[in-house]
Amino acid sequence: MTDNYAARDLATIAHPYANLATLPDQGPVVMERGDGVYVYDSAGKPYLEGMSGLWCASLGFSNAELVEAAREQMARLPFNHLFAGRSHDPAIALAEKLKDMAPIPVSRVFFCNSGSEANDTQIKLVWYMNNALGRPNKKKIISRQRAYHGVTIASASLTGLPGNHADFDLPIAGILHTACPHHYRYAHEGESEEDFATRLANELEEMILREGPDTVAAFIAEPVMGAGGVIVPPAGYFEKIQAVLDRYDVYMIADEVICGFGRLGEMFGSQALGMRPDSMSLAKALSAAYMPISAVLIPERMYQAMVDESRKNGAFYHGFTYSGHPVAAAVALKTIEIYERDDIVGHVRKVAPLFQQRLREFSEHPLVGEARGMGLMGALELVADRKTKAAFPAQAGVGAMFTRYAAEEGLIARSLGDSMALCPPLIITESEIDLLFERLAIALDRTT
Ligand code: PLP
Repeated sequence: MTDNYAARDLATIAHPYANLATLPDQGPVVMERGDGVYVYDSAGKPYLEGMSGLWCASLGFSNAELVEAAREQMARLPFNHLFAGRSHDPAIALAEKLKDMAPIPVSRVFFCNSGSEANDTQIKLVWYMNNALGRPNKKKIISRQRAYHGVTIASASLTGLPGNHADFDLPIAGILHTACPHHYRYAHEGESEEDFATRLANELEEMILREGPDTVAAFIAEPVMGAGGVIVPPAGYFEKIQAVLDRYDVYMIADEVICGFGRLGEMFGSQALGMRPDSMSLAKALSAAYMPISAVLIPERMYQAMVDESRKNGAFYHGFTYSGHPVAAAVALKTIEIYERDDIVGHVRKVAPLFQQRLREFSEHPLVGEARGMGLMGALELVADRKTKAAFPAQAGVGAMFTRYAAEEGLIARSLGDSMALCPPLIITESEIDLLFERLAIALDRTT
């Protein structure tokens, strides 16, 4: 049974993030192989992967060195773990590398398998630390509306998108959401970007004071929001936010799951946006998506709290069977070696201006309210009325229409509500960027 994939898929797979009521009418798109920035479906049709899969396949779909790194590790030691003092060399080397390259002081690295697990771990660590420090009431976590931090019970609670909460009985208590820094949508009439950033920082401070600073433990943010619609905060935003956090001893977590490893033209998104986080969550491009792996970078004061709690409780009772899986760690190590050897950040800096320029050429398109982005990440926000910024009614299905036309033209883009997102592999060339936007232009013109 090698064909009839669509029927077999529909009979067997519960798809994540799909409308399960309408999926049977549309059928799945079954991909079979990849080559560079292209993926090929089961009929042999190539698509330029404008989303790197799910913001993750940074080195494209046919990197032989990563395949070899996985093969070699699988043949030598396919599994070992890090529980109770066991270890293995790929995890040690990867932790050393991450400590060394991180733009913040790192004491230890904790490995998980996904972005959600990393952010879930962050919350547990913050609670753990504040118990160790004798401040058991300092537990609330502030996230932002339209943030995306994952789908486990805690990380989905951090996520600030209504669909992730509705009927899942989320968010859990103690997780709050402050305003989203999207100037185009949420600035007051005539409010400058700077005034908008100041207002948002003031609103955060009011929230902390309202809740009681002794109850607020941490703030989490993506440098540039991804799944919320590729939202680049206004200049100076994080500086103002940071000043508020510092005033109330609120621990700051950067969710670098999308922005980490070159996406914004710096190795880490925090560097590109002027953030000074206490900790970072890394995933996706950490292994170029060839294997699932994620990491939490732990500062010294957090690590000391973990040691103190271990003394008290007998161990640090947290960890996944596959924390630091040797094959995933070996692939991640090779991925970072490639980033450094091939100067992937330099490449992003070289091609991103063309990407952003081509994206912004759509600013005047009758369907586009805003063309925005940074580095190799961008979105077009489609509107029914450019003057009033009125959105299309959801039932018009404009986003689905656009992505379907794009796919017909051989381009994978993603609709996030009204925002059509792009996040191509970091290895994309200038001529591939041109082709991407030629295909996008046709798809957009058909979407009317
Ligand atoms: N954080 C961010 C910023 C993400 O974009 C994602 C996934 O898209 C996650 C966390 C969750 O990662 P995962 O899907 O690997 O659990």
